[in-house]
Amino acid sequence: MADTTVVTSAQVEAWLRAAAGELNAHADELTALDSAIGDADHGTNMARGFAAVVDKLDAAGDDSPGIQPLLKSVGMTLISKVGGASGSLYGTLFLDMGKAAPDAAEIGVADFASVVAAGVAGVVGRGHAAVGDKTMIDALEPAVSALTDAAASGASAADAARAAAEAAAIGRDSTVPLVARKGRASYLGERSAGHLDPGAASATILVQTLADTLGDAGGSQADDGGAA
Ligand code: ADP
Ligand code: MG
Repeated sequence: MADTTVVTSAQVEAWLRAAAGELNAHADELTALDSAIGDADHGTNMARGFAAVVDKLDAAGDDSPGIQPLLKSVGMTLISKVGGASGSLYGTLFLDMGKAAPDAAEIGVADFASVVAAGVAGVVGRGHAAVGDKTMIDALEPAVSALTDAAASGASAADAARAAAEAAAIGRDSTVPLVARKGRASYLGERSAGHLDPGAASATILVQTLADTLGDAGGSQADDGGAA
């Protein structure tokens, strides 16, 4: 039985692939959200960026890198392939996660929570958004808090990620009544209220796919990830 309190580089890779699939499946929805309070490109931005991430993973073949180079490479790909605010913000998320990650093939859940926290701190450092500004931060901050708390109380990686996903969804939904104070939606002022923030929606997809991936693994590294 594999250790359920670690996250492996194979799981991180499976997460990225699953996220690409889900972002692609929800691209129209994300773009519709962005058409209400932005410029109708968020779904295509995210789908394009994560498709490029998967292409790079495929090109790397079987020699799976450690968690650190994997995350850094995702960050670089997103920065170069995704337009808009979200390209540099999600790029920074993964790049800064990579910088905080050990150069190892697996990482304990508490350390993984610290890695994610470093990534989210990087997004805040770049975009200067706080909770309540109607951005991806409204989903990411509560997700990191839940992940960190669950890890500190000895939860498995899957359970910690599930707690993070639930917190992200609540944070995402909290953006509906908010007036945007950052990004393109802020140009609308009061008219941005009454709509879900697209970046909070995509961030929640990322955290949910993490929970699904770690949950699916069932502690077993023997299967090859299978088809979703
Ligand atoms: P753009 O707004 O440049 O078209 P996207 O549509 O891809 O880029 O992404 C929009 C999302 O980016 C928003 O819904 C919001 O969640 C997020 N965002 C925008 N500005 C910021 C910021 N300063 N900090 C955090 N997130 C931001
Ligand atoms: Mg946009």
